[in-house]
Amino acid sequence: MDVIGTEYMIKPNLCLSCEMTPDPGSRVIDTLRDLSVGGVPATADAEAMDLVTHLSGRKYVCEACATDFAIKFGWTKPADVETLSEELSSVRGELNALKLSTEAGERVLEALKAADLFPEERPVDAPSHEIFSMPGYREDS
Ligand SMILES: [Zn+2]
Repeated sequence: MDVIGTEYMIKPNLCLSCEMTPDPGSRVIDTLRDLSVGGVPATADAEAMDLVTHLSGRKYVCEACATDFAIKFGWTKPADVETLSEELSSVRGELNALKLSTEAGERVLEALKAADLFPEERPVDAPSHEIFSMPGYREDS
């Protein structure tokens, strides 16, 4: 199979799947095979003859149908794969930078703790004052 421009198509110039003539300037898959429809012999001695239909001739698949097929199979366009690969590479780079930054921060924290320059965490003390309340007063009234 080859991918060719529509200007190189030969008869019947139709997509075998959608039976439409592809837009000029678009691409098609040339199956490099011809469609032949075998006919029923008129007599037992006669050989079958090909029937001529509007699809007889070279078999092509237009780009729209090929794209639909690829989507049905769950395939991704090479350009999309390249874009996603570049994004993945960028995210991996950011992740590595964050890991290095976190490791450096942890080393500084450990050094501060080892030099007794970093106080251990203490629980927050409960407030020592009482909240003033007025008997018989309700805020929502
Ligand atoms: Zn088509």
